Amino acid sequence: MVNFNEADKEAFLATLSVKNIIDSITLQDVKDFLESLGVDQIDVNEEKQYLICPTICHNPLHEAESMKLYWYQNNKIFRCYTECNEAMSIFELYRRYMELNEYPITLEEAENYVKQFLKHIIVAAKPNTKFEEVVQKYQYDTRIPILDEYPKSVLDCFIKYYHPTWLKDGITTQAMDKFNIRFSMSQNKIIIPHYDINGRLIGIRGRALEENEIEEFGKYRPIQIGKTLYTYPLQFNLYGIYEHQRGIRARRSAIIAEAEKSVMLDDVYYDEYSNCVACCGSTFNKYHISLLTDILGANEIVIALDKEYKDWRTEKAQKYRNKIESMCRKYKHKASFSYIWDFDNVLNEKDSPFDKGIEIFKYLYKTRVKVK
Ligand SMILES: [Zn+2]
Repeated sequence: MVNFNEADKEAFLATLSVKNIIDSITLQDVKDFLESLGVDQIDVNEEKQYLICPTICHNPLHEAESMKLYWYQNNKIFRCYTECNEAMSIFELYRRYMELNEYPITLEEAENYVKQFLKHIIVAAKPNTKFEEVVQKYQYDTRIPILDEYPKSVLDCFIKYYHPTWLKDGITTQAMDKFNIRFSMSQNKIIIPHYDINGRLIGIRGRALEENEIEEFGKYRPIQIGKTLYTYPLQFNLYGIYEHQRGIRARRSAIIAEAEKSVMLDDVYYDEYSNCVACCGSTFNKYHISLLTDILGANEIVIALDKEYKDWRTEKAQKYRNKIESMCRKYKHKASFSYIWDFDNVLNEKDSPFDKGIEIFKYLYKTRVKVK
């Protein structure tokens, strides 16, 4: 029996079509995929031949509560029994998820993304896995896959320009230099390169500045240059992990924020002691936690997501809080968790905890809630 080494694995993957991938998806793969989107595994009921999931097909993640979305193993298809009342592929589900939670994407973009995700699950298989085992079932553990690298020279397409809106928001020129922030004249976007823990360029995102573009596509999107979209599966990396790994190692703690800007603001506040990274969304997963704990040795993790509520006493806020706590509890065997919560209304709705300056941030940090 031959061993399945890295090169063989790559060659094998290249031969996989969308149909092959669909055909070999297991119930566990679908659960892992849903988890990477932020659906708690305990919220998914596994039966012998199907899964019952919250209806993320037509609800934003944190509002999806009714268990009316099914995944059927025999024909590898999702079916929603309420509002959508139709069947859909895993790709179509991801397209709808993105539209509801982040920004609209095409079905082709969704296919590429899901393929990349499933491909990395296979690539993440343990070394020396037997070929047959990989074919039978994609192995899955928290070994973090090495993402494809883009040539750094591609950043030469963009100029060095400190955009006044970011300077006004408190991001200094030093911080922008540290994160190699650029500007695209032709796309009118602030350019944010993403690096992995080893400083390899794995993606480029842009902050749109034009109102109509923000309305249509959202503030942050991967950048396209020519035919290449500089995207990567966000669930396998944390923004700022390269620049802030020293701070995380030294303090044995890390802060997870939502957006790149928060990481840069924390860098302005704490410079080389900054331990802040961003998950570039409102959920974190086992890969993120593994990066911080297994690889960088953090034993404390502070969740500093955006304020998704006006007043913390409302039902909406309580739901959001329960979600954060349940995400934290899933990984409490890896680190102690706490989260920032705005009891005193020092932030506006949609603000990140970093947006109102260092004094407010220090206060929020000090009064953070420990997860038991
Ligand atoms: Zn639905």
